[in-house]
Amino acid sequence: MNMLLNGEWIDRPQRTEVRDPQDGSLVDTVPLASRDDMARALAAAVEGFERMRRMPTHQRMALLHRAADAIASRHEEFARTIAREGIKTIREARKEVTRAIDTLRLSAEEARRISGETIPFDQRPGSENRFGFYVREPIGIIGAITPFNDPLNLVAHKVGPALAAGNAIIVKPHSATPLSALKLAEVLDDTDLLPPGGLQVLTGRGSEIGDMLVTDPRVRMISFTGGRETGEAIMRKVGLKKVAMELGSNAPVIVMPDADLDLAVAANVSGAFWAAGQNCLHVQRLLVHDAIYDRFVPRFVAAAKAYRVGDKLDERTDMGCLINEAEAKRVEAWVDEAVAAGARLLCGGQRTGTFYAPTVLADVPPFCRVMREEIYGPVTVVQRFRTLDEALRLANGVDYGLQAGIFTRDLATALRAAAELHVGGVMVNESTDYRIDAMPFGGVKGSGLGREGVRFAVQEMTEPKVVCFNL
Ligand code: NAP
Repeated sequence: MNMLLNGEWIDRPQRTEVRDPQDGSLVDTVPLASRDDMARALAAAVEGFERMRRMPTHQRMALLHRAADAIASRHEEFARTIAREGIKTIREARKEVTRAIDTLRLSAEEARRISGETIPFDQRPGSENRFGFYVREPIGIIGAITPFNDPLNLVAHKVGPALAAGNAIIVKPHSATPLSALKLAEVLDDTDLLPPGGLQVLTGRGSEIGDMLVTDPRVRMISFTGGRETGEAIMRKVGLKKVAMELGSNAPVIVMPDADLDLAVAANVSGAFWAAGQNCLHVQRLLVHDAIYDRFVPRFVAAAKAYRVGDKLDERTDMGCLINEAEAKRVEAWVDEAVAAGARLLCGGQRTGTFYAPTVLADVPPFCRVMREEIYGPVTVVQRFRTLDEALRLANGVDYGLQAGIFTRDLATALRAAAELHVGGVMVNESTDYRIDAMPFGGVKGSGLGREGVRFAVQEMTEPKVVCFNL
């Protein structure tokens, strides 16, 4: 595919290969954007923003609804693109496509709800005889940088709200998975409602064109989803602009003695191994009460062993591969480090190329990376606790806080956990890997800044303007 720059689908002599990470087969090629391309895109976005901010609400809604309709009519094609360029199985990819359609429709609907309110200026003595209000205006040019794990829906989470609010947006998708983002741009462009420079997607290196996008003063907001290290590097050089950071986690789930164990096993196995653990909501630390530990853990391990790993396009496959061999080797090294430090491997621990088996570890020393950092692979640690206080302390005892989960039938326990867990979302009787696209989504501590979820992203991508009449 080519890239979308200033309303045109542009080719470049230098192209990058997009390869299927499971077998290295060629999926497609995309142009390698240069710094000159990004300079052109930035100039086009200045014009694009002028056009976008003047576009009537009904037209912005039509743009997003029509794109959603187009994806729905090409659902399987989009799913196969996600499954081939990325790490998801075809069944996982279909769910992502359905969610991306939802994200675009929510964005279209949100466009009509962007409003302000009147301001009672006469609350201050001497300020009588004033009348006024505030409106919410689009912020301007938004730079979006996206990861490989949800190559369609996480792009839709930036593009949908940005266009709904009348912004211009430049997307720099992950180099490994640019095709889903380009296809999203294609359906938006096909509506003939998108002005040149309203949405541009440039395929190139983060360290080159991503860096330019982040540092350019004309860009008013950077919306980044990706790794913490990259996010922190961007924060250091972004300058005076808004920033939304959707970073990773090492999510904890607490299983209390009164939990529904069937539910807890099924939900957490899916939460642990969805997208081969390459998921910011991946269940990484399972904290299990002493009273049920010996009943819960063997069932969890049995379910992990029953997980079918293999060809992503095979309907029977539960879990695919990691994004590249270096990442698979890194996951292997973290597990090996834990085992060398005294951890017990309850299942998994084998790597074949980019595939890593669903892995469960117990008795991991607290200093191991798999306890403190984000593993970003199909590895879950089980840990025994005796009191809720202890579980909450363990859950909170890391420098991440995206979502946490608790399985219990006791309302007081659930409410206490909801109050004490220092995270962006607490899931009761759900794994951490639960989200709808309309809810506020984001983390605290090292997991990020700001919130996505369409309505909340629209708030971040708009700013109030006050109008006051002296009557
Ligand atoms: P990554 O390596 O940080 O890459 C993310 C994006 O940043 C890519 O598009 C990359 O471009 C770009 N980039 C790299 N260096 C850059 C620079 N110097 N300036 C500007 N952009 C730069 O992350 P990833 O491996 O794709 O994603 C994994 C992480 O994302 C995990 O930590 C995961 O938890 C997190 N995540 C968070 C959420 C959430 O909503 N909280 C959702 C999904 C994933 P290139 O590909 O060209 O290098």
